[in-house]
Amino acid sequence: MRYYFLTLFPEIFHTYFQTGMIGRGVKAGIIEYEVINIRDFSGNKHNKVDDSPYGGGAGMVMAAPPIAAALKSISNFSDYPVIYLTPGGKPFEQKDGISLSQQKGIVFICGHYEGIDQRVIEHYVTREYSVGDYVLTGGELPALTLADAIARHIPGFLGNCDSLCEESFESNLLEYPQYTKPREFEGLEVPEVLLSGHHEAVGKWRQAKSEEKTQINRPDLYEKYKNSLQNE
Ligand code: SAM
Repeated sequence: MRYYFLTLFPEIFHTYFQTGMIGRGVKAGIIEYEVINIRDFSGNKHNKVDDSPYGGGAGMVMAAPPIAAALKSISNFSDYPVIYLTPGGKPFEQKDGISLSQQKGIVFICGHYEGIDQRVIEHYVTREYSVGDYVLTGGELPALTLADAIARHIPGFLGNCDSLCEESFESNLLEYPQYTKPREFEGLEVPEVLLSGHHEAVGKWRQAKSEEKTQINRPDLYEKYKNSLQNE
């Protein structure tokens, strides 16, 4: 998988791709990444990449020509999904990460200010994704969020595929609570059933806890889970 990030702040990306499991993925050659500074394609001596919005209003808009030129610097960009991160996009879900992990490359466009000129979206963007119903200052964290969520599904990235199968959102349920040593922490004991060695009892307890947590924290997801049981 090769990730391309079109950004005004290239420095944000390098630490992330050198760290933790993502860093290991890069070292192992499972992930490659390229950061493209949109400002390098401004086409003017002041390196200006934004302008005031037609029709008036607050803030600035990132102009289309530098973004298009940055995109075209990727020789085969049209072979890849071109994703614009925006609060106005479709909410990004686990299933999107799974399907995008099959791609050979992905281009992410990170917006700033009031966003990017709509004509970039019309001409070049193949998908718009949001990471949640709140507004961030830029698209870099959302792009990294997607890149991370997608990477976990690339074959060979996670050693143990069981950890993927049992994670939150599998079967529309959140994951059950996890415990490790010590057995007692500040007066709280690990639930007895997890010490029993009885696999079936552990499975039942985890299923019940997953359902309970989903019902409390994500009633919308719980509704989907209930419906999927009825349709089985
Ligand atoms: N004026 C825009 C609006 O109301 O939808 C918000 C622009 S925001 C201040 C600047 C940039 O941050 C956006 O172009 C986008 O790339 C990114 N961004 C902010 N919040 C986001 C979110 N929830 N999901 C994805 N990208 C987001």
